[in-house]
Amino acid sequence: MSSLTKKDCFIEGHWVPTDKRFSVTNPATGEVIAEVADADEDLTQRAINVAETALKSWRKKTARERAMLLRKWYESMMDNKQALGELMSAEQGKPVAEAIGEVEYGASFVDWFAGEAERIDGDILPNADSSKRVMVTKEPVGVCAAITPWNFPNAMITRKIAPALAAGCTIVVKPPQLTPLSSLALAQLASEVGIPDGVINIIPTSDAKSVGKRLATSPQVRKLSFTGSTGVGKILMQQCSEHVTKLSLELGGNAPFLVFDDADIEQAAEQLIACKFRNGGQTCVSANRILVQQSVAEKFTDAVVSKVKALKVGPGTEENVDLGPLIDQDAVDKVQRLVLAAKSDGATIETGGSVMTELGDLFYAPTVITGVTEEMDISEEEIFGPVVAINTFETEEEGIEKANNTPFGLASYFAAKDTARIFRVSEALEYGMVGVNTGGISHAYNPFGGIKESGVGREGSKYGIDEYLELKTVTLGGL
Ligand code: ADP
Repeated sequence: MSSLTKKDCFIEGHWVPTDKRFSVTNPATGEVIAEVADADEDLTQRAINVAETALKSWRKKTARERAMLLRKWYESMMDNKQALGELMSAEQGKPVAEAIGEVEYGASFVDWFAGEAERIDGDILPNADSSKRVMVTKEPVGVCAAITPWNFPNAMITRKIAPALAAGCTIVVKPPQLTPLSSLALAQLASEVGIPDGVINIIPTSDAKSVGKRLATSPQVRKLSFTGSTGVGKILMQQCSEHVTKLSLELGGNAPFLVFDDADIEQAAEQLIACKFRNGGQTCVSANRILVQQSVAEKFTDAVVSKVKALKVGPGTEENVDLGPLIDQDAVDKVQRLVLAAKSDGATIETGGSVMTELGDLFYAPTVITGVTEEMDISEEEIFGPVVAINTFETEEEGIEKANNTPFGLASYFAAKDTARIFRVSEALEYGMVGVNTGGISHAYNPFGGIKESGVGREGSKYGIDEYLELKTVTLGGL
């Protein structure tokens, strides 16, 4: 293990141990790789206090000073991407090459928001009263808190810390219990490049409920950013109401991937594979419901099945592996339950459909199922695993109707060539994000976020910084 393997809480620039600790295991081998400090409510409060003290000087730094520090942090992440990638693969399971890709992607938010820090500007507004002038300035919202999931142990954190710091906020991060090591490694690098003590604080815990509640209900915390399940997002939204704490939520999705009869079928199949099997299907923007126009269904299914059969599954440390293990036994059980229920309701398993026990308990075979209907659980729940579930439709209207038939509204995708159809369908889809002829929609420069029960607010892009800023209106009278 590298020197980036840190196991204690990171508070005010110090590594703070706790008596109680929890184990982090490698999902590929089941081996315990670290016993990590377990923050309680008192330690959470200490981190909040520290972030509040650090805010006073951090917000006063010039935008340029903050940008320079963020750039150094970005460079340090890039210099250490191999070690960060290996650490992530060990705690999360994704192939090392893919983990390094996530480190680069995560670092790109730090680079992007270093730029945005210097573009926070204000306005002078026209007014009806000649004796007054109105200035609008943007100020950091204050102490922020972040709660993040295990599927992207690096990027889900940098997406929140980078805009917060760029805006002049300080932050307390509660990383996921399953994958805290990547966040602690990032804190180590931040400290090495000179990000001042107390600006970033990381508190791993096995008690998400109490720590989360303290973060959401503390009057000192002015903003909470959460990525995770819709159920927990709703709880946090209620808790944040106590002090009207500003809130961003990136919650679950149930992404449709529509393939129309005018699509380039081979390219659509390639894009689906990239979208569906990234991180073993464990992403909130994974294509979940594959909706194919009847006339091209057979051709598209054949193309997908042959590509899925070629995917290589194995431990993330092995060369040329496309898919690692799922995160834990619960994840495997859920995927297996959905696949078997679909089968017993009449769907056909074209390939896969079982655990690859020869590799270990958590390796699920890349799977394609056809004959899926809207009523099946596999269409209603996020699969969060390597399963392509194919449903069909006859007309464009029916396809759109099926695609929108969900309380979620995060990502959606479709494949088509006709220009008028591309405009019609992208305007009709009730989603925060639409990928047209591409399964890759997440970039630091794109606003990422959902509508309906998929969340509130946007991360990344020139819009993402607004989540960490408040407007102040200064009216000058008597002129
Ligand atoms: P997932 O299914 O992706 O793990 P969760 O919503 O359960 O989604 O977890 C996302 C994050 O929310 C994790 O950091 C987890 O520890 C945290 N979490 C889980 N339950 C709560 C809770 N009641 N309050 C605050 N945070 C929670």
